Amino acid sequence: MSGCLCLPCYKKAAPKTDSSADSNQNLKPWTVPFPPPPPPKSGFLLQGMDPVERLKSGFEKFKTDVYNKKPELFTPLKDGQAPTYMVFSCADSRCCPSVTLGLNPGEAFTVRNIASMIGPYDKTKYTGTGSAIEYAVCALKVKVIVVIGHSRCGGVKALLSMQDGVPDTFHFVEDWVRIGYPAKKKVQTECAMLPFDDQCSVLERGVVNVSLENLKTYPFVKEGLANGTLKLVGGHYDFVNGKFETWETS
Ligand SMILES: [Zn+2]
Repeated sequence: MSGCLCLPCYKKAAPKTDSSADSNQNLKPWTVPFPPPPPPKSGFLLQGMDPVERLKSGFEKFKTDVYNKKPELFTPLKDGQAPTYMVFSCADSRCCPSVTLGLNPGEAFTVRNIASMIGPYDKTKYTGTGSAIEYAVCALKVKVIVVIGHSRCGGVKALLSMQDGVPDTFHFVEDWVRIGYPAKKKVQTECAMLPFDDQCSVLERGVVNVSLENLKTYPFVKEGLANGTLKLVGGHYDFVNGKFETWETS
């Protein structure tokens, strides 16, 4: 997610106008103006174009430049999919894993959410991610699950800036990013002397490790790890410095 969800920025940008704003039930985050993202300097096709037309022209360009020219890539996909990877990535618009990792259609079963988090196995919560993991492992039989964090993650900033005991500001965001709470506590204990941004950088990797550990609570993941058919990999994409790193967990 973009940095605009950092709670101090969010609260600064959206001052409460009445006491009812303290109640979660009365919050309407879709009416709250977010701080605008910095304008793109180059590389975007939208300049002056209707946003929907931008999508249509984008598809036509893809069809001409890629789809029509690579039938060997797309024809087999008409019959099904057998992706090697399941990829978890942040929903941040700057982090599309297919682009940054050069993944072709059919290679990666992908889930994107705030801060690419995965909650522990719980049939009453996190069913969106749980069902995707189950389908990827049990039906598609992916060989590798990759969880990718990234630089300047707004979800991680939100997690680190949340104060214990303070009511939530969003309907969903804080509760979601609390998945990474164990990593936050570790960073606050072990990296207390670091500036906030450096703590965020450590936490970006820490929440990936929490998600990797949570993956092991899913029985089908546990089974895949035990019989050697599945591998778990952590990753971090630094779009500030143009770096990508990976690490494995057993
Ligand atoms: Zn993010």
